[in-house]
Amino acid sequence: MILDGNSPTGPIEQTWDKHRFDMKLVNPSNKRQYKILVVGTGLAGASAAASLGELGYNVEAFCYQDSPRRAHSIAAQGGINAAKNYPNDGDSIQRLFYDTVKGGDFRAREADVWRLAQVSNNIIDQCVAQGVPFARDYSGHLDNRSFGGAQVSRTFYARGQTGQQLLLGAYSALMRQVNLGTVKIYPRTEMLDLILVDGEAKGITIRDLITGEYRTHVGDAVVLCTGGYANVYDLSTMARGQSVKANWAAHKKGAFFANPCYTQIHPTCIPQAGDYQSKLTLMSESLRNDGRCWVPKSRDENRAPGDIPEEDRDYYLERKYPSFGNLAPRDIASRAAKEQCDDGRGVGPGGKGVYLDFADAIERLGEDTIRERYGNLFEMYELITAENGYKVPMRIYPAPHYAMGGLWVDYNCMSNLSGLFVLGEANFSVHGANRLGASALMQGLADGYFVIPYTIANYLAQTTPGMLKEDAAECQASIDEVQGVVDKLLSIDGKRTVADFHREIGSLMWNNAGMARSEEGLTEAIEKIPAIREEFWENVKVPGTGNELNQQLENAGRVADFFEFAELFCRDARHRSESCGGHFRVEHQTEDGEAVRDDENFCYSAAWEFTGVGNEPEMHKEPLEFENVELAVRSYK
Ligand SMILES: Cc1cc2nc3c(=O)[nH]c(=O)nc-3n(C[C@H](O)[C@H](O)[C@H](O)COP(=O)(O)OP(=O)(O)OC[C@H]3O[C@@H](n4cnc5c(N)ncnc54)[C@H](O)[C@@H]3O)c2cc1C
Repeated sequence: MILDGNSPTGPIEQTWDKHRFDMKLVNPSNKRQYKILVVGTGLAGASAAASLGELGYNVEAFCYQDSPRRAHSIAAQGGINAAKNYPNDGDSIQRLFYDTVKGGDFRAREADVWRLAQVSNNIIDQCVAQGVPFARDYSGHLDNRSFGGAQVSRTFYARGQTGQQLLLGAYSALMRQVNLGTVKIYPRTEMLDLILVDGEAKGITIRDLITGEYRTHVGDAVVLCTGGYANVYDLSTMARGQSVKANWAAHKKGAFFANPCYTQIHPTCIPQAGDYQSKLTLMSESLRNDGRCWVPKSRDENRAPGDIPEEDRDYYLERKYPSFGNLAPRDIASRAAKEQCDDGRGVGPGGKGVYLDFADAIERLGEDTIRERYGNLFEMYELITAENGYKVPMRIYPAPHYAMGGLWVDYNCMSNLSGLFVLGEANFSVHGANRLGASALMQGLADGYFVIPYTIANYLAQTTPGMLKEDAAECQASIDEVQGVVDKLLSIDGKRTVADFHREIGSLMWNNAGMARSEEGLTEAIEKIPAIREEFWENVKVPGTGNELNQQLENAGRVADFFEFAELFCRDARHRSESCGGHFRVEHQTEDGEAVRDDENFCYSAAWEFTGVGNEPEMHKEPLEFENVELAVRSYK
């Protein structure tokens, strides 16, 4: 099937305004007849639920944490992009649009990216009105800093805690609606299944994580804001509980999964210290505003970094990419770091690290300024490594961080299943094959505050409220199905822990489908995954019971999904025989190791249809057309 993203036509700068006018509205007094189920309360979900509640819809919002405030969005450090052009350095909506399309290596839909750039400015106004304490300069104006893949400063920030401050803003808006009675929140609740009526999303089945009770919630539309799937690698910078569960449940019910192989490996993370650690820690990309990446020139170097003179250092990013230097985009900076380490010039234990050095910046600006900009990041680094980043260069190494792939959605953020909307990191929409720094927060809040309030009305205006009743046969069937899976997990009583299985699939994915991928490695993974999956279902040990808080049981369900999802991921990666963005196929590179894209054969999004566990999925293509940005070789030199 050839998919249509339903992008509006006409001059791109008018598309969103025209589309907003063309879409149907729901009369204010009819809105309370509709119930919307919002799954996820990170930036995308909290902003969506708050906005929909404010409009007068009945909203139910779900998250697996004990409070919406603990969503993974809270971890975001460096900042959020917007095209305000406050520094007067040449930014514009057009430039943010261009940088994002190019940054994504020309694998995203133009119209969606334009809308993102257009509403980015509204986001900042909205957040400032909520009281988000963005950094300000001496005169009191909002301050900006730079992020990778851009030559302007367009990133708004609140020290190294931008996600936390934005989430507190969205959470306040959400709680206001809870207080007004338009939104009801269900924390410690995990969505396990999607319920369809005549192919339209009308309900979800959940498990109460405290009591183990199963319930269905019915509504007129379902909005998934459930975040990304980088934990398929086991070790990543993501919150440990993040999984593909909700997306996978929807996928198994018919929602197409787009570009699952597009994952982001972030260049600046604290190197792994041992086999049994549970996560990796990001050192924000914002640090590359002032930190310089380098490795010793000699493979035999054994002096302390401070004793290595300038002439014996290789500032490899500045050397290879003089225009962007240390602010080269993430995919490029990650590969460059790996290249240095593979070449035997890495630093620290096992040679799996490069230096991120602030000595020059401290000399130029003073330690106080650096502390003011990134103080909490330096503290975090010292707590984890026992090294003082002001005195010795930090050591960093790439780590899995973000998912550009996700459920396929059209311009309205609606999946191929009517009534199922997908926002934020959970969808595949705007970042193509590589996300630029500070653009995930922008997307989550754009989708939640400024897109879904319009597009969902267009759907609801054409649907009858209350199509699914809680006592319908579909609801009981769904409960029976998910309960069957949980009971099975508890009954296996095998010999290996869930964490052990997660480590095994994670390391297979990292080695064969991580920063560098090959036909051979991917084929090997596709052959191995079913056997590990089978062993999981015969030999996993899940202690405890199903009617109490049981995090081993929760994890078991999430890891079980990763075993199915990993296979799809590798099939997508194997079929895409080109290098683009975060998807680097070793067969497709230039002599000096740069990615080689194949626009003739792969200028499309691949949206996969589920055909059964272990079966070959069916691929549907959405061709990508570039009318406003010239399809060119991406260069940051
Ligand atoms: C360490 C770190 C730093 C980052 N820094 C930045 C930055 O500076 N700038 C930037 O732009 N981006 C940054 N990012 C990326 C950005 O934080 C995320 O992409 C973004 O916050 C995702 O928001 P979201 O609302 O889509 O999902 P999330 O914040 O991940 O929220 C997911 C929600 O879904 C819920 N959920 C998931 N599954 C289920 C289920 N089955 N049932 C019920 N609920 C479920 C969770 O409870 C949660 O509420 C960073 C990421 C990391 C890991």
